[in-house]
Order: sequence, then structure tokens, then C-alpha cells
Amino acid sequence: MQNEILLGSHVSFGSPNYFVGSINEALNYGENTFMFYTGAPQNNIRVPLEKCKIDEGLELLKKHNINPNSLVVHAPYIINLGNSLNENIFKFSKEILQNEINRTSAFKVKNLVLHPGLHVKAGALIGLNKIVEGLNDILNSDSSDVIICLETMAGKGTELGKTFEEIAFIINHVKNNNRLGVCLDTCHIFDAGYNLENIDQLLKDFDEIIGLSRLRVIHLNDSKNENGSHKDRHANIGKGNIGVDNLLRFVYHPLLVNIPKILETPYIDGKPPYKEEIEFIKNNPINF
Ligand code: FE
Ligand code: FE
Ligand code: ZN
Repeated sequence: MQNEILLGSHVSFGSPNYFVGSINEALNYGENTFMFYTGAPQNNIRVPLEKCKIDEGLELLKKHNINPNSLVVHAPYIINLGNSLNENIFKFSKEILQNEINRTSAFKVKNLVLHPGLHVKAGALIGLNKIVEGLNDILNSDSSDVIICLETMAGKGTELGKTFEEIAFIINHVKNNNRLGVCLDTCHIFDAGYNLENIDQLLKDFDEIIGLSRLRVIHLNDSKNENGSHKDRHANIGKGNIGVDNLLRFVYHPLLVNIPKILETPYIDGKPPYKEEIEFIKNNPINF
């Protein structure tokens, strides 16, 4: 079989089976990659690694020919490296991120997605420089091979990372930036105002400003809001304003074949839509 697309979704992670439970959930949806939080997305309460069934999980991945390198961990939302106004929050954020890097590495996962941060009204440039400071502090001492993937954001409130230029600013100013990558979220860039009708132009811009080799994860979501709305509300595939074809091009574009695509679309009537959405995507390839 030719280069199989890497397609998965956000899956749960919790008692009693932790990593093994996440893997089985992904396999049930027909996925060959997936993303998980190593605890609750909103806080830093974390089950000790000894309980997470990591070895058993790695065996199971091997059995299904899934390379843990393609998997994705998402860092908790409470981290804000952009806060220049409250040193405690900044320090606390660094501690949580360091802990999350350690955990990600323990799962043999390489991609750790991080929301760059909020400038909390100090101004974008000050916030961006604070993020650079935070990442430098961490990457100067951390010796793992985890890649921190800065996620493109919708620009809600004081969110940073809402333009390719802001992401590039962070990468260009961090010393050990070989440890930095990017996660492109289709809903977020659409809400941030990018035109998704012309993917070739979009990828050209991304390449010129950031560098396509930095792109390591794609979050594949439609958007409930209009282009440039800065809202960040995900919609199911084909049920939002981006449109099916514009989304499918991110899955099948030749420049993006080796990049894991992760659905973060909303549950429908309390049920995960991923099995159906994965099937739909696989049944509707786009030729370039
Ligand atoms: Fe995210
Ligand atoms: Fe996302
Ligand atoms: Zn989002």
C-alpha cells in the first residue's frame, strides 16, 4: 500500500486502562494515530506514570503497526507562558509544561501540542517575548527529544499565535528551536482570518513565514463561525463554514502526507462522531 494517511482524533485517557484505553478507543474508530491529554485538559492533576499502562500500550501499538512517534499529546490549557504581569503564573506554567514534557517522553510520544499563550493585555510583543523566555528556560535544561508544537490560534481575547508571523517570531527567537514545531488547526486559522479556499497559496505562505518542515500536526476541524470571527468553536466535518472540500485537501495534499491529522470535532448527541468522520474522510480522497 502506498503512503497511508495518518488519521485520528482526540481520544479520552482515564481510569482504569489509561494509555491502553486510549489506544483501544482509537482502534475502535479505525484510526492509525490519535491525540490524548495525560490527565484533565483544564488542570494539572496527573495520575502517576506507573499507573498509566505505558509498557502494555507500547506493545499494543507495535501489534497494530502504529509508531508512537506519530502520536500527539496535548498540554493542559492552564499553561500560560505569555503572562508577563504575574510571575507566579509564569513560573507555575513552566513547571507544568516541564512535567508534561517528561510525561510525553515517558509514553515515547514526540509531539506535544501547546497553546502559545495569552498576553493578558500587556500587548502582543511583550507576551511573545515572555513566551520566548519561558521556552528558552525550559529548552536550555530539558534533554528529552519531545517537540513542542505551537498551535495556531483563533485570536480569541488576548491569544497569541493567531498569525503565522507570531508563531515564526517565537520560533526565531528561541535558542534551541530544533525542539519547536507547529500544530496547524484548520478551525483556528479560519477563525483567525486565513483563506482556506486556496491551500497551495496557504502552504506557500506558511512555508515562507514559518517553514513547512516545522509542521508536525494538523487539527482537522470545521468552524461554527465565520472567517475572521476570532471565536474558536469547532464544527463537525462538513457542518461548518470551511466546507468539506477545503478540509479534505488538508488530508490529501501531497506536501502533508506524513503529518498526523487529528479530529477535534464536537460530540453529536453525547456520542463521539469520529468513527463516521474517519470513514467519510477515507471514502472521499482528493486527487492532486
Ligand atoms: Fe488546542
Ligand atoms: Fe486544536
Ligand atoms: Zn479550538
